[in-house]
Parts: sequence; C-alpha cells; structure tokens
Amino acid sequence: MSDLRFETRAIHAGQEPEPLFGAVNVPIYQTSTYAQPRVGEPIRHDYARGGNPTRDALQEVLASLEGGRHAMSFASGLAAESTLLLTLSPGDHVVLADDVYGGTYRLLARVLDGWGVGFDTVDMTDLGAVRGAVTERTRMVWAESPTNPLLKVIDIAAVAEVAHGAGARLVVDNTFATPYLQRPLELGADVVVHSVTKYLGGHSDLVGGALVLSDDDLAERLRFLVNAVGAVPGPMDCYLALRGCKTLALRMEAHCRGARAVAGFLSGHGKVRRVHYPGLPGHPGHEVAARQMRDFGGMVSFEVGSEEEAVRVAESTELFFLAESLGGVESLIEVPAPMTHASVAGSPLEVPGALVRLSVGIEHPDDLIEDLARALG
Ligand SMILES: *Cc1c(COP(=O)(O)O)cnc(C)c1O
Repeated sequence: MSDLRFETRAIHAGQEPEPLFGAVNVPIYQTSTYAQPRVGEPIRHDYARGGNPTRDALQEVLASLEGGRHAMSFASGLAAESTLLLTLSPGDHVVLADDVYGGTYRLLARVLDGWGVGFDTVDMTDLGAVRGAVTERTRMVWAESPTNPLLKVIDIAAVAEVAHGAGARLVVDNTFATPYLQRPLELGADVVVHSVTKYLGGHSDLVGGALVLSDDDLAERLRFLVNAVGAVPGPMDCYLALRGCKTLALRMEAHCRGARAVAGFLSGHGKVRRVHYPGLPGHPGHEVAARQMRDFGGMVSFEVGSEEEAVRVAESTELFFLAESLGGVESLIEVPAPMTHASVAGSPLEVPGALVRLSVGIEHPDDLIEDLARALG
C-alpha cells in the first residue's frame, strides 16, 4: 500500500471490501461491545472505548496519508490535543507558537497550567527566538503552519532541528494544510495533530480529531491513554471522516485554486489594507511555504480599515456564510477578534480587530469574487 500514490491510498488504505457481503464501504460498526468466542480472547476489540473497526479504518488511512506508522482518532481536535498533552508530567515545559489555534492556547494557559505544566509562546518564524525559548525542561515544541488566522508560515524542518537539539518533540498541527499539501513527519516532526472537523471531514458535518506519529513507544503510551481517558469518536463520525478522506486531494486542489483567485482579487482592492495568503509572492513565508507545501491552502485573511468595517463586510456576503470553523466545501467568513479569537484577547495571541478570515470553499471562484466585491462595495 505504501508504494501507491496519495489519491489511491486515500481510497484504499484500510478500506478493503467488507468480507461478509463485499460492501465496498467500511460498515458503520454501531456497537458498544463485542461477543467473545472465549474468555479473554476477543476477536479484535473487547469494548468500543478501546476500539471499533470503523475507527480502525479511519486510523489506517490517516496514518497512510501522513506517512506515519500509527494514528489515533478522537472525539475532537482538542480531545486529541488533551490526550497528547497528558503524556507530560508536572514540571514539564512546552514552547508554543504565538499564533496557535486559540483552543490550544486555552488548554495550556487555563487547564494544564493548574497541573504544573509550564509554557512560553514564541514567534516561530524567528528561529533564534525558538532557540532562546527552549529550556532543559522543554518536552514539546508545538507549531502550526500555516497559522490561524494570520497564515504565518513556520519552517518545520528548521524548528524540528531546534526541538531535537533540546531533547524535545516537535508537534505540528497540520489542520490548515492537510497531508495532501504538507507532511510534517517527513519534514522531521514527531507528532501530527488534526482537527478532522475541518478539511479531512471536509463537509462541515462532524467534529473529530487525530494524532499521527511513528514513534512506537509514544504510540503505545497514547493507545493506553485513548482507552484510559476515553475521548474517542463514535463510528458514524469515523465513517463520515473516511468518506471525506476519499475526496481530500480533489477538494484541496479546488480550495487552493479558489483561495489563489480570491487572494489575487483582494490584493488589488482599494478597501483592503493587507492580504495574508502564503501563495502571494510578497508574503513573508512564501519561500518556506513553497518549499514545504505542495500548494498554499484554502485559507485567506485580510485587513480592512476598522473592526466595524470588518464586521460590516462579514455580515454582507451571501455565498460566504458568516460562521466559525473552516475546511468545508462551502465558503465561510468571520471576524476573528470578536468571534474565534475572542478567548485570546489580551494574550500574546491577540489578533488585529480589522482582520477578516475566509475559508474559501469549492464553489466557482468567480462567484466568490463577485460576492466579496459586493460586500466590500
Ligand atoms: C479547529 C481547530 C482545532 C480544534 O479542533 P476541534 O475539532 O474544534 O476540537 C485545532 N487546531 C486547529 C488549527 C483548528 O482549526
């Protein structure tokens, strides 16, 4: 399977026809327990918190797409992150990118902080700053690229070197790029985190998360935690995520095409002060993105004159739905400061008020541009 190409593995990895009737789709194994032929000898799983065949198939395809040996799927992206962070102990330290997903920051600042896990945030586009932030207690360096919502690009291979030099693991949240565009494990990262809710699911109809890694010892510890903590997904959501993975490559091509067109349009618009899109040659992370990504993704953000103007634009589009989240086939628009990033106001992760974030869907780019032109009007 590993010699097959990405698009083929997305459809075949872990997805053999079901043996009883030959169904070409992995069944939704809607069960909490499994009849065991003999005491202590289950067929594969004994109880569905620990494992489920629909979940197994999803995990196999995710591991294959990210190029990792192990994958675990979870009830949400934050459930995956929480479980991973539970491998830390009091006294351990985490270095966090200063533009990470707000929920990741909140988990460290307002949950783990009380358990004695310390952290510092740093601008990870500045390698000197990363080197200065690691201490002998640093166990994890946590990056995200491109970041949310400013689309900063972090050099994953370079940060991996700094993390490993300090004896820490590099965790990369690959939600925005997806494995179709970027494979952090191949660039030196140790663990990939996903909010499956976004592009992997791809249709805004599920909440899920995943971890992918190759380290056997860490995988064994995480498998123990999956069952011990219990933040697991149901089989229906695993089925929907599997279905999403099959069209990931096609969808990402369309997201990138749309985002490129929208970013080009916004760059030439008189009311737009600044466009953040790594595909634009003037973007500070353009070179690194071109090196470590296949294409530049479907997320675009831009700044207008004021927060009131940003709110007015976001409330004026018709095709772009005003909503949080991202990565679905439909285009979404939001104002991060009062919406997705309200919880990081006053923290190092605070974002400009006049910023508008777009998740460019797979509609025809011309219709999206006309919608934005009307809203900016
Ligand atoms: C949404 C998101 C998460 C959290 O995932 P949930 O599925 O909402 O729990 C983490 N990281 C990034 C980059 C996200 O966009």
